[in-house]
Amino acid sequence: MGAQAVTAGVLRERAPDERRVALTPEVVTRVRRSGVDVLVETGAGASAWFTDADYTAAEAAVVGVDELLSRADVVLCVAPPDRETAAALRSGQTLVGMLDPLRQAPLIGELAARGVTVVSLDLLPRTLSRAQTMDALTSQANVAGYKAVLLAADAYDRYFPMLTTAAGTSKPAAVLVLGAGVAGLQAIATARRLGAVVTAYDVRPAAQSEIESLGAKFLELPGVASAAGEGGYARVLTEEEQRAQLAALTAAVPRFDVLITTARVPGRKPPLMVTAEALERMRPGSVVVDMAASELGGNVELSEPDKTAVLAGGVTLMGAGNLPSVMATAASTAYARNLSALLAHLVADGAVRVDLDDEIQAGVVVAHGGEVVSPAVAPQNGGNR
Ligand code: NAD
Repeated sequence: MGAQAVTAGVLRERAPDERRVALTPEVVTRVRRSGVDVLVETGAGASAWFTDADYTAAEAAVVGVDELLSRADVVLCVAPPDRETAAALRSGQTLVGMLDPLRQAPLIGELAARGVTVVSLDLLPRTLSRAQTMDALTSQANVAGYKAVLLAADAYDRYFPMLTTAAGTSKPAAVLVLGAGVAGLQAIATARRLGAVVTAYDVRPAAQSEIESLGAKFLELPGVASAAGEGGYARVLTEEEQRAQLAALTAAVPRFDVLITTARVPGRKPPLMVTAEALERMRPGSVVVDMAASELGGNVELSEPDKTAVLAGGVTLMGAGNLPSVMATAASTAYARNLSALLAHLVADGAVRVDLDDEIQAGVVVAHGGEVVSPAVAPQNGGNR
């Protein structure tokens, strides 16, 4: 390594439901090869089953948080840091994570004002092919879509596959997936691997061929036309379209044993797709997993994040929480690779080089040089400060 080297510090996550870690030992080795020294906070990987000894073997220095924050040029995390940690970051340092900047505007504004450079992987331009290795939204959505199906299968008191035994033949589960983006497509593939008969729906017309290529059936809904928006995302439906969609889904949903919903529109409250009436019409023993469940509401009426309820009609309704954290080892492994690809892009000649003319950096760099520079965040923050 040359005279100058960047030091990256991996924080232990502090949110109570966050078991992931920003870099895994395997990726520490890779990052060190590119001339970045790595510090890891004591116990940072423990809840994802990576020990301090694993990090030491990968030639990271395992240190306490105070030393980490004082020595690191780049501080790496998964979820936004808590107030105390954020308050210790200083001018010239760079914070990199999935910082949810659209909802964390006060934190971003505060860090920007103190001269901290803030980089958030959730604003990565996802359609650029050279950015694909950095796409943490995709890697984490894949984990979540897989896990959602396992949770549904676990709560479902029958088989997913058709099984023929001396005691008779079981009918395969009929699974419906609403929303066929990254998480939805992974949910379809996983349910198919478990032997279910899968049907899926999305408002983007491009989703139909993707659904069918995974061996699932596309659900046609009368009265709902294409709602493709920008950048491969869906647009918000008009009120009339939403009414038509809800009515068509209320008729369709009760035919299925298991329902998994994943629909989202960037920066908006998730669209409501399944009413309480549709839930009442489902058969007892049916299972619903709402992956869009949030404090603002989800795709399913009555769902709450991290809560499972058995409704009066015998339907189990699960509001998903932080599913990537539930599969912390796989999620961290993928996230760490995304992060190392981004680091390789940000670091040159022993320093972090911010270049807002670069398409990737223009997306992910949220704050730099004392200002909020991301157009996606600045207006919500009362403009540049
Ligand atoms: P997302 O999490 O924003 O939404 C999930 C799905 O919900 C989307 O497919 C969306 O169309 C759907 N949806 C929204 N409102 C709906 C409604 N009212 N009814 C039915 N479905 C609704 O999406 P995502 O998983 O982040 O992926 C969005 C798109 O980006 C996809 O097309 C994906 O293939 C694409 N993508 C492309 C790249 C790339 O080109 N490298 C990388 C990642 C994702």
